[in-house]
Amino acid sequence: MHEDDAAVVNRIRELRKELDYHNYRYHALDAPEISDAQYDELFRELVTIEHDYPHLITPDSPTQRIGAAPLKEFPEMVHRIPMLSIDNAMDEGGVLSFHARVSRWLGREDVEYCCEPKFDGLAVEIVYEGGILIRGGTRGDGIVGEDVTQNLKTIRSLPLRLLGNGFSGILEVRGEVVMDKSAFTDLNRERSEKGEPLFANPRNAAAGSLRQLDPSITASRPLTFFAYGVSDPAVLEVTTQGFVLDALQKIGFKVNPDRSLCRGMKEVMDFVANMQGQRSELPYEIDGIVIKVNDSHDQEILGVKARSPRWAVAFKFPPTQTTTVLMKIEVQVGRTGVVTPVAILEPVHLAGVVVKRATLHNEAEVHRKDVREGDTVIVQRAGDVIPEIVGPVKTKRPATTEVFRMPSRCPVCTAVLVQDGVFHRCVNLTCPARVREQIYHFASKEALAIDGLGRRIIDQLVEGGLVHDVSDLYKLTVDDLMKLEGFAEISSKKLIAAIDASRKPTLERFLVSIGIQHVGRVASRQIARSFGSLERIMHASKEELSTLTGIGDEIAHSITEFFAQDENQRVIERLFERGLVISSPEQQNSLGKSLQGKTFCFTGTLSFMSRPEAQRRVESLGGTVVTNVNKKLTHLVAGSDPGSKRDRAVTLGVEILDEEGFLKMIEES
Ligand SMILES: [Zn+2]
Repeated sequence: MHEDDAAVVNRIRELRKELDYHNYRYHALDAPEISDAQYDELFRELVTIEHDYPHLITPDSPTQRIGAAPLKEFPEMVHRIPMLSIDNAMDEGGVLSFHARVSRWLGREDVEYCCEPKFDGLAVEIVYEGGILIRGGTRGDGIVGEDVTQNLKTIRSLPLRLLGNGFSGILEVRGEVVMDKSAFTDLNRERSEKGEPLFANPRNAAAGSLRQLDPSITASRPLTFFAYGVSDPAVLEVTTQGFVLDALQKIGFKVNPDRSLCRGMKEVMDFVANMQGQRSELPYEIDGIVIKVNDSHDQEILGVKARSPRWAVAFKFPPTQTTTVLMKIEVQVGRTGVVTPVAILEPVHLAGVVVKRATLHNEAEVHRKDVREGDTVIVQRAGDVIPEIVGPVKTKRPATTEVFRMPSRCPVCTAVLVQDGVFHRCVNLTCPARVREQIYHFASKEALAIDGLGRRIIDQLVEGGLVHDVSDLYKLTVDDLMKLEGFAEISSKKLIAAIDASRKPTLERFLVSIGIQHVGRVASRQIARSFGSLERIMHASKEELSTLTGIGDEIAHSITEFFAQDENQRVIERLFERGLVISSPEQQNSLGKSLQGKTFCFTGTLSFMSRPEAQRRVESLGGTVVTNVNKKLTHLVAGSDPGSKRDRAVTLGVEILDEEGFLKMIEES
């Protein structure tokens, strides 16, 4: 080998090792040590070297996650050791009799259990040989599954090469491929906008994404792999299930942080109740708790029966699906004029709330699901807290039902509806329904966060003829408000003060508030940062806009179309005439960015300021506000009556501030 080549080989080895390590910090531990830009730089260096020395590319190189050619069909994958299924316990009684059986076999009451949330995803097995990923497949029937190696390799939380040295022989790792609830919601929103069929729940989305013959489609889907076991614990030289998880994490896998070792049934059931309480707040979907005898030696004594081990049981949570009657399909006009069919349901209890209505997205979606007025329908809450209709129970369909048709005219202003892709829109800019929705949005917490300006008051303002568009909010007076029902002097002054306080939004907030279709906070931030002024954004071409990361043709089109409309321009002009000022980046900088890099999550009730106000303060100081508690969170602000988020923060060691501590922090910042 040439001398230069030895240096190249070394550099490649170094780069791969570093990239693997930082990939692990980021995707498995949620604790990155370098910035994305630094990671990209290392990655590009490796790509460049491998491009010049293609014979040095190996399948475990971080550059080889994507790019494999599509398949015609999936080959079979036989599991060397069958993937067993776990018996279900539907209630506490089921868990207690499981424990009774275990105690009888082991001849003692005192048993330690390792309890882990049961992911609602797709079970897979990944095979490593000498520390390198060689094969991976779905569970299938437990004996034979499908070989989806190319697709699994695109999942960033799955190591292509195990961390550490000295791996020999075969290691078969088992776990679950899941899609985060938020990623699922985003994916469905995207699909809905494109008129593609929606996934029913995160599990279907994960399964559908993993079983793509073209790996580039899988690569585009945000999937995560959680490891929860190995085919043969002896290979890892550990003696308990808890240690298996620790060992898996150490060699590069993401494992569930929410696991607990429990001694006795009381601790087990407490953990079950605790996780059930947190279920809706977790970033991923779970459908129960897996309870495993922790000690491997005990597991061996208990052994397996037919197709399931005697040392484990899955406690299943109550279902998040139910049925009810679809009484009526109403149509609603949104702020961009999109007319949405909404199912009005016979009220039904589902996973802790009463569900009365559910969106049906668009006419095509109603037809795809084939739901009709009078149908008994399956309703579920999945992915997020918004309930949705899965489909009709056709055997219960009444004799006479009609296929849903979108009305030809706007139900509010009677303008003729225009079809726009899968959507129908009321294009009348002064349609009262649109105006009202625009004002709701303008005052909402994602936009200008005007405290106390809720739907009921906006309805009064619009119906009373005081407000015709958002700019009219800034000419309201205390006297105007006092004429409205339910307003006294103090409440009127308070609302006017809140409206006044919203007069100096950042460019990003302003962009969100004017309600351009498809333009939410992420897109607004991106556009505001790149263009710097409203003037420049208003004159940007579609081509200029669509070059920004995350801004596709659709968003770019929507922005230029928005500013091309005279009515929108007039409203913006009037906003400025009435004293709204976009605070410039210089002004924002002079405030300091002392909370830069810090993330805040709020729980409980604050007494000195509202949550949107607190959120605005944090953001104006360069901090970020999130809704979930995870390891990356730097501060949890707990007001009075904090919820389970506080417990979670304590568990994760996140710094907790009371309201006073928070106020002190932002005052000093
Ligand atoms: Zn209308």
